[in-house]
Amino acid sequence: MTKLRAATTAQVMAVVKADGYGHGAVPCARAALEGGATWLGVCTLAEALELRAAGIEAPVLAWLIGPGQPLHQAIEADVDLSAAGVDQLAEIVTAATVVGEPARVHLKIDTGLHRNGATAQTWPALLEAAAKAEADGLIEVIGVWSHFVYADAPGHETIDQQLVAFGEALDVAESFGITPQLRHIANSAATLTRTDAHFDLVRPGIAVYGLSPIAGETFGLRPAMTAHARVLLTKQVGPDEGVSYGHTYQTRSDTTLALVPLGYADGVPRAASNVGPIAVNGKRYTIAGRVCMDQVMLDCGDDGVHPGDEAILFGPGDRGEPTATDWADAIGTINYEIVTRFGSGRVPRTFAGERHG
Ligand SMILES: *Cc1c(COP(=O)(O)O)cnc(C)c1O
Repeated sequence: MTKLRAATTAQVMAVVKADGYGHGAVPCARAALEGGATWLGVCTLAEALELRAAGIEAPVLAWLIGPGQPLHQAIEADVDLSAAGVDQLAEIVTAATVVGEPARVHLKIDTGLHRNGATAQTWPALLEAAAKAEADGLIEVIGVWSHFVYADAPGHETIDQQLVAFGEALDVAESFGITPQLRHIANSAATLTRTDAHFDLVRPGIAVYGLSPIAGETFGLRPAMTAHARVLLTKQVGPDEGVSYGHTYQTRSDTTLALVPLGYADGVPRAASNVGPIAVNGKRYTIAGRVCMDQVMLDCGDDGVHPGDEAILFGPGDRGEPTATDWADAIGTINYEIVTRFGSGRVPRTFAGERHG
């Protein structure tokens, strides 16, 4: 957080969706707020209410709201809501009428991602409805916001194009009398590489957890999550023995096999079979054979690996262990997916430096 806080003069909304990218939403939210974030961002209403239930009072924006959700709970809990269309806004207005207080709304414009957000064609109708609801005291427009397609490829032409589209959307909003306190579009990559995209607030996610959104650059970030286990069992086997389901790995010589008790039920991708890296006693091995539901095997030669030795799947990298980014590269995904997979499984989490119990 310190690096992100120093990277901008805008407010920082720490994104803690998906259980804090697998790190634990509540402890990460608290740590981010201590580190200088003033806002929290989540995807679902349930995620926002989890933060409130934990006693977190900082402003929270929830941005993926489906039809028929209990929006009155959001308004009662002071959760900001995103609206991308007139129907969505109408639901928010109805809920605000029931609760008897204005809903806090961020209007989302689609500047090119073509995912969530109003198109340039539907934007004026959304603004008109929002201006009316605001005049009626049923909503307060807090923000106008958007999201990048390709901020992780600095210099990509879509970045400038989206900034132009965002500027136009803000101008149209102003013509409807809507001048939000918070204009926001920057994710981690744009926070780290495009100060001209910071506006009033930035929304970093992955970088909050010390992981870089951009291949080949670390920005001096230090990964927060370490995934590790203790070797549970070792055994000696001879050459040409198949290992794990389907025998997709064969030993080459007399060797020590080590069982690491983590599998795909714990977050280890099955796609890491025969490619995922794991460090034991400072040396890196590649998973031998298929990743099972609960365990993986390593072929440790005559390295003297023993039950109880620490096996590190990924961590900050200081002790020669792989990083989540190494794992992502090994199986053809992104570090986001690696850490998020370890979120809500059966692996116990401990929090270094935790001050809140
Ligand atoms: C996930 C998300 C972010 C954070 O993205 P990072 O790339 O992790 O920084 C920001 N805004 C929205 C709308 C998101 O969905």
